[in-house]
Amino acid sequence: MVDIIVLATTNKNKIKEFREMVKDFPVEIRSVGDFGPIPECIEDGETFEENAYKKALHTAKILGLPAISDDSGLEVEALDGAPGVYSARYAGESATDEENCAKLLKEMKGKTNRKAAFQCVLSIAVPSGPALTYEGTCEGTILEEKQGDSGFGYDPLFFYKPFNKSFAECGMEEKNKVSHRGKALAELRDEFDKVIIWLNQRLAEEKPPKPDHNEYENDDWSK
Ligand code: IMP
Repeated sequence: MVDIIVLATTNKNKIKEFREMVKDFPVEIRSVGDFGPIPECIEDGETFEENAYKKALHTAKILGLPAISDDSGLEVEALDGAPGVYSARYAGESATDEENCAKLLKEMKGKTNRKAAFQCVLSIAVPSGPALTYEGTCEGTILEEKQGDSGFGYDPLFFYKPFNKSFAECGMEEKNKVSHRGKALAELRDEFDKVIIWLNQRLAEEKPPKPDHNEYENDDWSK
């Protein structure tokens, strides 16, 4: 029976949010940080799905436990989907949110099509490879200048029409009801009983078959 699922993140908010979401299910949610340092996963995929799967499988393989990971980012129509999988490092390898927003504003200067969407993919993998995927999208437009100061990342530039304000002007609960991550997590939560059944089946298949002979039986141990 699956009793532990590892979250491939050390982000305390993500861990808290996930634990809360599946608190009624008989599984323990652990953070990858609980297991001490493990080799880093290089997120060099071309899609959110590829990166989420890579990270989940990497963690599952190393720890020998089922693992969940997420990958998310912003896609802007007028920029052919950029920053996309490069959202966290749009303005450079260790760019701050401030620098990434400044670069986005520069690239969007003069653009009339300001449509954008946040994307989130959650991947649940077992050590042998198979995985389940959940996705969430949230559509909005890119503002001409920052608005609001809560949230993180591109929130101050992301205008969400149904609320008539930017994501950085929303409370966390309000944002999570409509956000890409909120939607992907809700989809996963609604199916979590099936996910547990799926994990149990995959983990049972993974058990190595009992050897039907002793591979050392013909060795001469007197040598
Ligand atoms: P990660 O999947 O948490 O690593 O997110 C990748 C990057 O996408 C973040 O560093 C942010 O720049 C951007 N991003 C993802 N989700 C959000 C969001 O909800 N608001 C603002 N920016 C986000």
